[in-house]
Amino acid sequence: MGAHKGQKRKAYTAQEIEFISINAESMFYSQIGKILGRSKASVKNVVRQLGISTPSIRARSGNRKPKEKPANLPTSKVCTGCKKDLQLSEFTKAKLGKFGLRSKCKTCRAAEAVIRGVEQKEEISSYGKRYRKEKAEQISKQRAEHAVANKEQLKEYAKEYRKNNPGKVNAKTAKRRAALLQRTPPGLTVEHWKQIESFYVEAARLTKETGIPHEVDHIEPLQGKEVSGLHVPWNLRVIPKSTNRRKSFKRIA
Ligand SMILES: [Zn+2]
Repeated sequence: MGAHKGQKRKAYTAQEIEFISINAESMFYSQIGKILGRSKASVKNVVRQLGISTPSIRARSGNRKPKEKPANLPTSKVCTGCKKDLQLSEFTKAKLGKFGLRSKCKTCRAAEAVIRGVEQKEEISSYGKRYRKEKAEQISKQRAEHAVANKEQLKEYAKEYRKNNPGKVNAKTAKRRAALLQRTPPGLTVEHWKQIESFYVEAARLTKETGIPHEVDHIEPLQGKEVSGLHVPWNLRVIPKSTNRRKSFKRIA
């Protein structure tokens, strides 16, 4: 190398310069250099000195054999979730991902979304439970305090309610009694309870309108001598109080 550097540069001949000036626009400096046995830099230097404007390499690259595209373009990729080698269509686009796709397949991503959803739901529901429990404690405490503070007034309200809703109150009393006597079959629906209550409301209405006390009678008494009836709509009827008493008397007698 040192020897080469020390060598005096061989001057370009007229033919060489002519060759360069003719071909500079269509050939690469390196190609010209090869033919002339000169370096690329040396040829470039001459071109500059001659003032020849050469097109950019890119523009000249038409002369070059186009660079071959890789024959085996990827058609699949391995999912980082399920580790399966899957078709590229199994991945959604992502600018920064390998092959411009996400690292996890659509199936894996969908599964993860479901899990995330479930976790979120659980989190929300456990929060809801905690909230309701705390709230329930707070409410029952408030009610107890309110009951103590307004004892007399609440008594007055209850009395008023009983006076205005005798049917409903009687229905409730009967319900408690039937439960106590274990004469309420399991499986009574809300509709059944509404029907039962309507008997008591009707009895109260008749009492008020006719002035004759009415009450709800269990056709088959809850505590019969031989068979006990049930506290169900189909075992109820509204009758004047006196009749009821008589019936009871008769049965007992
Ligand atoms: Zn996957």
